[in-house]
Amino acid sequence: MCRSKFEGVFRGFATFALAFALPLTPALAAQTACPNGIEIALVNGRIHTMDASNSVVSAVTMRGGKFVSVGHDAGGAAEAGCKKVINLQGRVAIPGLVDNHNHILLLGLRPGYHTPLESAASFADIRSIYAARIAGAPAGSFITTIGGFNPVQFAEKRLPTLTELDAIAPNNPVYLQVSFTGPSSTNTAGRNFFISKGVTVGADGSIAANTQTLLALNALRSVQTSADKRRSTIDAMTYAAQLGVTSNFDMGGFLIPGSPNHEDEFTFDGAASWDPYFAYEPILDLHRQGLMKVRIRVNYLTMDNALNLPILERRIDNAFREYGDHWLRTAGLGEFITNWPLFGGGTPLNYSAAVRKAAERGWIYQQHTLSTNEDNIAISAWEQLNADIPIAPLHWSIAHAVTITPQNIARLKALGAGLALHGFRYLAGTPAANGPPYRTILDSGIQVGAGSDSAQISTLNPWLMLYYMTTGRNSSGQLINAGQTLTRDEALRLYTAANGWFVKEEDKLGSIEEGKLGDVVVLSDDYFSVSDDALKKLGSVLTIVGGTITYDAGVLRVQDR
Ligand SMILES: [Zn+2]
Repeated sequence: MCRSKFEGVFRGFATFALAFALPLTPALAAQTACPNGIEIALVNGRIHTMDASNSVVSAVTMRGGKFVSVGHDAGGAAEAGCKKVINLQGRVAIPGLVDNHNHILLLGLRPGYHTPLESAASFADIRSIYAARIAGAPAGSFITTIGGFNPVQFAEKRLPTLTELDAIAPNNPVYLQVSFTGPSSTNTAGRNFFISKGVTVGADGSIAANTQTLLALNALRSVQTSADKRRSTIDAMTYAAQLGVTSNFDMGGFLIPGSPNHEDEFTFDGAASWDPYFAYEPILDLHRQGLMKVRIRVNYLTMDNALNLPILERRIDNAFREYGDHWLRTAGLGEFITNWPLFGGGTPLNYSAAVRKAAERGWIYQQHTLSTNEDNIAISAWEQLNADIPIAPLHWSIAHAVTITPQNIARLKALGAGLALHGFRYLAGTPAANGPPYRTILDSGIQVGAGSDSAQISTLNPWLMLYYMTTGRNSSGQLINAGQTLTRDEALRLYTAANGWFVKEEDKLGSIEEGKLGDVVVLSDDYFSVSDDALKKLGSVLTIVGGTITYDAGVLRVQDR
């Protein structure tokens, strides 16, 4: 075992310990001027609390990061200058959305001025999204979109070419990459950069999937600085806040070849890959500086090859679980705990030892599955373990579950385990590749919540996920998940109140109730009554996290008192 391995592990651990010792959140910083904190009251709204009885109220007040009154403005308690009152003018507000499985930290590590295109329906949309991005970025910035979209979502059903990208962005290099490993497309300025780095780029700007796309991606990574990563992580958090996603359960990345421990684990290069010992540094820096815009829960992904699980063991022995503050906190393990039959195959030989180790130490755990074979591997091992160590108190769950059977749902329910459902089939799914079976699962009464599994193969945009959950239609409008849709109320509950359970924060996250964290989103339109097409275009006009405004579209007047 080489020395650098230990250094890598120690550096990661030390950084975590330091960050959590010095939390300086916006809420805390504000308290120095106002000894009892800033009080925020929202009045004259239609505020859907998502509490157990689905109450709708007109006013709420937040102080000290939490809701202190629901149903009326607590009124008058704050010192002069320490209260903000916001008249919602009848607008709909909901609890901050909770995404129970995404990769927002990978999104924050994207090289270039990363620009999500998940909501674009045509090249004309790309033009307007890129124009807005270019206007806010330094001249000549490299504009990138890496994963989170699929060409079939565009009316043109393909990637734009070099000529089309030159017309869209004449003064900036541009790079679009599909999914984990391409294919990709670039414009003239981007082509010149990539050719200088040894990448093969077609005259039409095309870059082939796999080897050439990885060369291109790594060329962009090679010129990325630590400051770039911090800026990009702020951009990722801002994007989530604009959409109303206030809590993100991050599920890690694949180990990039060449990282510490790479000889002991499954490795893979692509948009979902990172060095897990350095990957958390940008978010830890931002947290230390009080620059968090949304909540992040960290889950550790490890993929040991060896029977004795050296990587998992070191993570469990040296990291804290369920530790941190309300902004940044470690949760558990996932979405992998060992090397896994990603492309088919039997139970990993180290899997039962891995789940036992996790259970013995009390870790929360979420496991990725995409097939009945994988469901059976996980559930069989959990059933065996459950005879010795009950797993219900650990809040374990299966993620994605696109093909889960009624029989396997019943087995999981009997264990007290849950299902985390992700609508990534929205982008490019078909009637033969659809799911998850939302209706069957919800009606079973199992613990269930929803999320996106963005940033490579799915959209972080929750409104596209909620559209898919409630219509069963993909990005082309084709009905692919017939008979498995939910009502808007049911779907929203899965994206809010139902998700605290997955990180054992059901008493803090997901609904607007006194004592819970003050996370609320004022919507651009009425989620409950807009057309299906308008649902896809919803967003936030005001996002409040822990009683602090982290996104303000400038539509509402914030009145100081
Ligand atoms: Zn995932």
